Amino acid sequence: MFVGGKVGRRATGITRRDIDGAKYHEAKYYGAKYHERPTWYLLSPLRCSLSQVPARRVQHEVEDRRGVRNGGGDWSFGAEPEPQILDYQTQQYKLLPQIATIFGIHFSARRVWDTYNEVTGNIHEGNLDLLPELHAISCGLKALSSSDASAGIEICRLACGGHGYLSSSNLPRIYTTTTAANTYEGENTVMWLQVARYIIKSYREARKGEKLCHSVSYLAAQPVSTHLSTNLSNEALVEAYKKAVSAIVSETAERLQKHCDQGEQFELAWNKCSVLLVKCAQAHTRYFTCEQFVENVESLELSEGVRNVLRRLCRLYLIYHISLNQGDFLRSQALSPENISTLEGEMCELLAVLRDDAVSLVDSFDIHDRILGSTLGCWDGNVYHRMFSEAQKSPMNQTDVPEAYSKYLRPLMKANL
Ligand SMILES: Cc1cc2nc3c(=O)[nH]c(=O)nc-3n(C[C@H](O)[C@H](O)[C@H](O)COP(=O)(O)OP(=O)(O)OC[C@H]3O[C@@H](n4cnc5c(N)ncnc54)[C@H](O)[C@@H]3O)c2cc1C
Repeated sequence: MFVGGKVGRRATGITRRDIDGAKYHEAKYYGAKYHERPTWYLLSPLRCSLSQVPARRVQHEVEDRRGVRNGGGDWSFGAEPEPQILDYQTQQYKLLPQIATIFGIHFSARRVWDTYNEVTGNIHEGNLDLLPELHAISCGLKALSSSDASAGIEICRLACGGHGYLSSSNLPRIYTTTTAANTYEGENTVMWLQVARYIIKSYREARKGEKLCHSVSYLAAQPVSTHLSTNLSNEALVEAYKKAVSAIVSETAERLQKHCDQGEQFELAWNKCSVLLVKCAQAHTRYFTCEQFVENVESLELSEGVRNVLRRLCRLYLIYHISLNQGDFLRSQALSPENISTLEGEMCELLAVLRDDAVSLVDSFDIHDRILGSTLGCWDGNVYHRMFSEAQKSPMNQTDVPEAYSKYLRPLMKANL
């Protein structure tokens, strides 16, 4: 078990002697899980993929404003310049939700820290009630952030076309470093099952009328039978999330109970439901990030300009994940097909509006070129110059014509065969 990290003593004033040893280690462990780290890895690929914007601008200048690409992909030569690659809606759909993900995880991690500080504070009074809550949100966010980051980096690599495959892009190294986070500090499937255990326990407590902790309190709510009709505000979408996740949890808990009622051992019954249990945990954690995103965007002290951009990003995050998991929302009648259709239309509009903020949002994290270590995405936008200089370093490129040509090929070509 990894114990330690920079958090703990300075933040809380607690020392090992203050509390029971095992619990101290447990609390420190959750504090030491760096939930955000994987998504921060996602920033570098985003810088690389967004570099295609200035890169294309450079290319376009070199090509002397040749023409404009039609919808079908043909070039018609005319007055209009080549569009920047980020003007393609499909490209916006690849990259903008990844930017939203970083902020979604960032705000959720703040909540984990708050809970961590509350738990370590309560431990002084011998109160460990919040420890299971901290364990569950910590495990869930670890698994969600590492899997989102891994998937997101691959999307960014694809967004760079063939350049994303260059080793000098640094994307292959960033990808392999990040995917390891799915395994270390708690293998993700095992993490999801830990979250599921907490959810099922909480669901059962709710049925007995017991009070639940904040992150699972929605499981105690009475199911609402009507569709959301026209209200598709952020708050209404978070409510829809609650309803959809409650339905998945309720169905899975009942299935688990059925196996137990048939006389199966709990662990065997658990294994027979584990695919659905993982799904419960994933849906619950996604809902948690959506809720935190909405709450933080409205409550943080921000300028109105920044808040408006973050509001749009938050909206994109909510709709993007609803659209991806629409089956869950439709099955639970949390949203109607018409609701989904309206939201998808709004998502396309949001992509176009957020397009102009993409580079600034990523630059706001201020990743230094040295950290990025990539020929793509450097601050000055000189992508092609850097790629050319990097290619020149290859032993194959030390002479204009490789030695092998004069040594083997040329004599062969000149010979009378
Ligand atoms: C890059 C890297 C760095 C590491 N650094 C360290 C380090 O510094 N210190 C350290 O101590 N360790 C380190 N590790 C080890 C790491 O913590 C373990 O690999 C990780 O916890 C997974 O354990 P495992 O390898 O035994 O896999 P297993 O637990 O055997 O998992 C194998 C497969 O079985 C599945 N599985 C396992 N249990 C269950 C279950 N109950 N239900 C369903 N499915 C299950 C998993 O999902 C996985 O697919 C590192 C690993 C990597 C990849």
